[in-house]
Amino acid sequence: MTSKFGLYVHIPYCLQICTYCDFVKFESRDLPPHSDYISLLKRELKTRARAFGSRELTSIYFGGGTPSLFSPAEILSILEAVAIEGFTLASDAEVTLEINPGTITEGSLDEFLGLGVTRFSVGAQTFDEDLLKITGRKHSVADTLATLKMLAERKTNYSFDLLFGLPGQRIDGVKRDVRRALEFSPSHLSAYNLTVPAKHALNSGRASDDEQAEMFELIETELAAKGIFRYEVSNFAKPGFESCHNTLYWSDLPYWGLGIGSHSYVPRGDDALESSATPWGVRFWNPPTIAAYRAELEKVEGARFWSSLSKDRFEKLELNEALTDFCHTALRSQTGLELARVEAKFGPTLGKAVRVRLDDPKLKEFLQHRQGSFALTKRGQAMADRVFETMTFLKDEILEKT
Ligand code: SF4
Repeated sequence: MTSKFGLYVHIPYCLQICTYCDFVKFESRDLPPHSDYISLLKRELKTRARAFGSRELTSIYFGGGTPSLFSPAEILSILEAVAIEGFTLASDAEVTLEINPGTITEGSLDEFLGLGVTRFSVGAQTFDEDLLKITGRKHSVADTLATLKMLAERKTNYSFDLLFGLPGQRIDGVKRDVRRALEFSPSHLSAYNLTVPAKHALNSGRASDDEQAEMFELIETELAAKGIFRYEVSNFAKPGFESCHNTLYWSDLPYWGLGIGSHSYVPRGDDALESSATPWGVRFWNPPTIAAYRAELEKVEGARFWSSLSKDRFEKLELNEALTDFCHTALRSQTGLELARVEAKFGPTLGKAVRVRLDDPKLKEFLQHRQGSFALTKRGQAMADRVFETMTFLKDEILEKT
C-alpha cells in the first residue's frame, strides 16, 4: 500500500457565480441547507469508507465552491465523521480550507485553526476593484486586505490564488497584484491564466498571447526574488510549503473525493478497493448535482463499492491511459518525468518508448533533461499542450510495444 493518501471534500456553495468559473458550484440559495449536504457527505463516507480500509490520511482538502461559507462547527462535524469511519490523521497531516475574502472573521479563523486546519487557500484573484466586478467576484479589495492581514498576523500557512490575463489587464497591473500579495508573506501562490471559451465576454480586451506569457514570467521572477519558487506549472511555494494534497495529483498517488462532482483515483498496486479489478488503476467521480448525488447514495446503501458506481463515471484505466496520465501529471511538476519511475511502473520496453518520445526533436526547446528526469523548460510551460500531445499514447501504439 502506498503511504500517502488524501481526502478531498467538495463544498459547492458560493455567494455568487463568477463569470469565468467552471468548477462544480451553485449559489447557496439554490442549494439545500448545509446540514442536509453534510448528511449526504456522511452517508457517502459510511457507504464507501470500507472500500478504502481504515487508513491514515496525509491530507484533507476542503475545496469548492466556497468552503469558508461553512461554519467551523460544520467543518468539524465532517472531520468527526471521517474519524468515526476509522480514518486517522498523520501527525504532520495537511488540512487545507479554501476561503474567500469577506467570508471569515477573526473569530472563525481562530476556530478553524483550533479544530486542526493547517493551511488556507485564499481565492483573492486580483487587487483591482474593477476586475473583481467584471469577473463577478462578490468581495472587495478591502475584504481581501482584511483577510490577508488576519492570516499574516497569525503567521498562518496560506496560499494566494492569483488570476491574470484578465480583460484590459496589462503587465503593470499584474506586477502590482503580485507585489501587493507579497506584502502579506504568503507561503504559497497559485497563478492561473484566465481560461474561458473563445466567444466568452471575458475574452475581449485581453493582452496578446506573448504578453500573457510575459506576465507569467514576471510572476515567476517576482516570486523567486522573495524565495517562492515554482514547483508545478501554476504553483509556487517557499521550500517546504508545497501543497501535500495537490502533490498527490501529480505523483500518481491515491485520493478519494467526497461530495458532488468530486474525482477519485487509486493507482495500480494500492490495496484500496478490490485490487484484482484495478490492473492499471481506476478513476471515478461523483454526479455533479445534489439530486443525482442523493439518488445514487440512496440506491447504494449496503451495496458493494463497484456496483454503487455508475458506468459512465468509473474508468478502469487501460495501460495506454495509465502511461499517458503518468507522463502528463509528472511533467506538470518541477521534478519532471523520471525515467526510472516510468520503468519501475511500466517496465523497460515502455520506458524506452517514453524516452523515444521525450527525445523527439519537436520537443527540444520545451524539455530539459537532468539526471534521468525530463522537465518542462519555461517555453515548455507556456506550450505544455504540445508536449502533452506528443506524450499521449494510443492503445494501438502500446500494443505494438508489449
Ligand atoms: S467563488 Fe470560486 S467556486 Fe464560486 S463561482 Fe467564484 S470562482 Fe467559482
